[in-house]
Amino acid sequence: MNSTKNIAQLIAELRNDGITDPAVLKAIEGVPREIFLPDPFKSRAYENVALPIGRHQTISQPFVVGLMTQALRVTDRTKVLEVGTGSGYQTSVLSPLCRRIYSIERHPQLHDEAEVRFKQMSLTNITAIIGDGSEGWPQQAPFERIMVTAAAEDVPLVLLEQLAIGGIMIIPIGVDEHDQRLVRVTRTEEGAETEDLGAVRFVPLLPGVADK
Ligand code: SAH
Repeated sequence: MNSTKNIAQLIAELRNDGITDPAVLKAIEGVPREIFLPDPFKSRAYENVALPIGRHQTISQPFVVGLMTQALRVTDRTKVLEVGTGSGYQTSVLSPLCRRIYSIERHPQLHDEAEVRFKQMSLTNITAIIGDGSEGWPQQAPFERIMVTAAAEDVPLVLLEQLAIGGIMIIPIGVDEHDQRLVRVTRTEEGAETEDLGAVRFVPLLPGVADK
C-alpha cells in the first residue's frame, strides 16, 4: 500500500489540529520539506512527524513548527533570533513572515547544509552562524522575537535580556524528554510573563560548539 502523503493533506491536517493562521499555513505550504531531509526520509516529508537529520538531531514535526510559528506572532517588521537552525526548515517557514532572522546552530555540518538550502530557496533575509545560541547574539540584540528549538532547563536569562520589552520568546522547557512544555514568554517592564502551550519533545539545548 502506498501511504505517501502530499502537502495538501498535511495542510488539511494542521488546520484540523489548530493551526488556523492563514499566513502560517501558507508559509508551510511554500516550503518543500523534502529538501531538508536525508534521502531515506524524503518520501515521508509530508507526514506530520519529526524525522532524523543526522548528528542525532531531528527536523521538527510540522504541527510543532506551525504551533511555534503561530505562537511567535511575527509580522513583516519583526527581527527574530532563532536558536537551533538544525535542517533550516523552521527558519525557512519563518522567513517569508518576518523582516530578518538571525539563526544560530552549534553543529557546523548542519549549519553548512542549512545554508545551501537557504541559497537554493533564494531566502535572503536569513543570517546564519555557527555558535552557542544559549549566549544569544549580543551584537544584534535586542530582538522582538526569539524562537528556541532545543529544550532548556529554564528560560535562559541571557536570552531574556536580549528580548525587547514587549517581545515574545517561544521555548521548550524541561530536560526530561518525556516531560517538556512549550512556553511563551513575554518580556515586560518588570520581568516576564509565561504561558504554557502544551507538551512537546525536543533535543536538549547543549553548551558550546560541536566538533566538525
Ligand atoms: N528547527 C530545526 C530543528 C532543530 S533540532 C529544524 O526545523 O530542523 C535542535 C537543534 O538545536 C539541533 O540542530 C541542535 O544541534 C541545536 N542546538 C542545540 N543546542 C544549541 C545551542 N546551544 N546553540 C545552537 N544550536 C543548538
